[in-house]
Amino acid sequence: MAKYKLEYVWLDGYKPVPNLRGKTQIKEFASFPKLEELPNWGFDGSSTQQAEGKSSDCVLKPVSVYPDTTRKNGVLVMCEVMMPDGVTPHPTNGRATILDDPGAWFGFEQEYFLYQDGRPLGFPEGGFPLIGQGPYYCGAGYKYMGDIARQIVEEHLDLCLDAGINHEGINAEVAKGQWEFQIFGKGSKKCADEMWMARYILNRLCEKYQVDVEYHCKPLGDTDWNGSGMHANFSTDYLRDVGGKEYFEALMAAFAKFVNEHIAVYGPDNHMRLTGLHETQAIDKFSYGIADRGASIRVPHSFANNGYKGYLEDRRPNSQGDPYQIASRILATIATVPKP
Ligand code: ADP
Ligand code: MN
Ligand code: MN
Ligand code: MN
Repeated sequence: MAKYKLEYVWLDGYKPVPNLRGKTQIKEFASFPKLEELPNWGFDGSSTQQAEGKSSDCVLKPVSVYPDTTRKNGVLVMCEVMMPDGVTPHPTNGRATILDDPGAWFGFEQEYFLYQDGRPLGFPEGGFPLIGQGPYYCGAGYKYMGDIARQIVEEHLDLCLDAGINHEGINAEVAKGQWEFQIFGKGSKKCADEMWMARYILNRLCEKYQVDVEYHCKPLGDTDWNGSGMHANFSTDYLRDVGGKEYFEALMAAFAKFVNEHIAVYGPDNHMRLTGLHETQAIDKFSYGIADRGASIRVPHSFANNGYKGYLEDRRPNSQGDPYQIASRILATIATVPKP
């Protein structure tokens, strides 16, 4: 038997964006614990905006497990928050009720800024870098990238791969101090769990560098510096295997019809980012186009060339969006479209 450090991670009750919380309990197991072996646990919901002080117990129900190579015998445990009865989802538990389908594949592109002393890493105090936006996207060289950022990004990548999180890639983004990682997963819960856990790993990793992760979609406000998105690439069995122009056009009509429902779960303050500039479509418009990075939905060349089969990219979700809600809304809209 060995003593494992189980880090139970959950989403708190803050609005509009929950924070990630985690606490550790030590338990003995013969080998790395499986999900079924992990007990429910509790926490003080009055400290996380999830309960009143007089009746403060909330329940943590493990839903997925990952190795944590930052600690000896470390385990990361993604949890749902439940009511004290242990079976009723807490009102802040957005995961319990989402639509899921193992045939629905998602690829989220998480963009974010690294921040220090209240400004993007590498920005001078009270101003902007001498070199404006341009050379930073996929850039290399100290004058563009600085030194700490890539160290953080690489370490994060390794920790996520160690955890079994399905990272598909990383890149430096358009603004100085801005980066991206991509996670691909089959099923909304699987992919979204991995995204939340990857965010948790990044937040925790940055502590030792005295750096914060800024997930806001437009931290530099109304300037020429890019905002941060979390493009949602998606496909279903039908889209991959059958597709077709007629089905695709019906699907796009449904996305146009539910534009408000989508924007409602695509992250706060998205009007600051979806302006029609900086490779975005305006928040109140819906459009799609082949290889069009100024559209709401970008249709990859491969999709159009392959008989309207494959995956699509919804470019509207932002960096603070909740991947559970984003994936579920996409599936809800797809479900309204009859297959010819
Ligand atoms: P870009 O920056 O050009 O928009 P990325 O390479 O950053 O593209 O992201 C593309 C994403 O598309 C990746 O996360 C990848 O996993 C995802 N993807 C690829 N194929 C599919 C598919 N069939 N279904 C869903 N997502 C997919
Ligand atoms: Mn990308
Ligand atoms: Mn990007
Ligand atoms: Mn993209």
